Amino acid sequence: MAIDLHTHSTASDGALAPAALVAHAAQHGVTTLALTDHDTVAGLADAREAAAVHDIDFINGIELSVTWQRRTLHIVGLGFSADHPALTAGIAGLQAERERRAQQMGQRLARTGVADAYARARRLAGNGQITRSHFARLVVADGVACHTADAFKRILKPGRPGYASAMWATLDEAIGWIHAARGYAVLAHPFGYRFTGAWRRRALAAFAQAGGDAIEICTGVTSIEQEQRAAREASDYGLASSVGSDFHAVEQFWLTPGKLRPLPTGAPPRVLKPDQTR
Ligand code: AMP
Ligand code: MN
Ligand code: MN
Ligand code: MN
Repeated sequence: MAIDLHTHSTASDGALAPAALVAHAAQHGVTTLALTDHDTVAGLADAREAAAVHDIDFINGIELSVTWQRRTLHIVGLGFSADHPALTAGIAGLQAERERRAQQMGQRLARTGVADAYARARRLAGNGQITRSHFARLVVADGVACHTADAFKRILKPGRPGYASAMWATLDEAIGWIHAARGYAVLAHPFGYRFTGAWRRRALAAFAQAGGDAIEICTGVTSIEQEQRAAREASDYGLASSVGSDFHAVEQFWLTPGKLRPLPTGAPPRVLKPDQTR
C-alpha cells in the first residue's frame, strides 16, 4: 500500500496535468493519493476522475501559503469539501496576491536581465497559478542561472534581486478555512523552511495552538533522523502524522510518488482514510 498526500500538477507548479499525475502515481503503485496544488483546487475534479479509472483512493488536497512571523509556511489541507464558500473566498484572496506578487517579481527580474518575465510566466502557467518555479524556468532559459537550484539561490529566494514578498494568509485563516470545509490541516515539510531547530519548534507550537491537526513526517527528501525527530515532535505537540513526496516533475528523479518510508511509529497516518472528513 503506497500513500502519497502531497503532490503537484499543472494547476500550480507541477509538470504533469492532473490526469497525467494520477497515471504516473498509479504506475508507481500509489493506492491513496492527494493532489495538493499551491492555493488552488482547480485540478481536483480531473484528478478524481482519473483516480477512479486507476482504482486509486483520491483525497481532495491543497497547499495553502501562509505568512507567519514574516516567514512563509505551507499548510496542506486534506479531505475537505472543495466548494465550501469560506475556502473558496480564502483561495481567491491568495490567488489575487499571487498575481500581484508575480507582476512585482516581473519588474524586479527585468533588472536582472530577464525581460518580460510576468507575461512569460503567465503563459507558462496557463490557467494555473504562477509560482516562483515558473520564474525559475525563465531565469534558466535566459541564461541568468545555470539550473533551478542556482536560480532560487541567487535570484529568487528572499533577499535576492528577483524576489518579492507576499502577504499570504495567516495561520489562523488557513486552518480555519480548511476546518470550515471539514478537512484536516497539515503542516507541510517541517524541515523545508531553512529554520533553526528553535524556529521549527516555535512554528510547530503556533500550528498546534492554532488548531492544526498533523505534520508531514515522511517526505521525498527527509532523512531517517529527521523523520524520527518529526515523529517525536508530533507526539510532543499532540499532532497526527502525514506523509507526502511533494512530487512536482519527473525531472526530480530523486522523487517518486508514493515512494516514502513508513512512519517511524509503524502506525498508519491518521489523515489517510479515503474521503475521510471531519
Ligand atoms: P511560491 O509559492 O510561488 O513562492 O513558490 C514556491 C515553490 O518554489 C515551492 O513550492 C517549490 O516548488 C519551489 N522552490 C522553492 N525553493 C526551491 C529551490 N531551492 N529549488 C527548487 N524549487 C524551489
Ligand atoms: Mn511547489
Ligand atoms: Mn511547500
Ligand atoms: Mn508542495
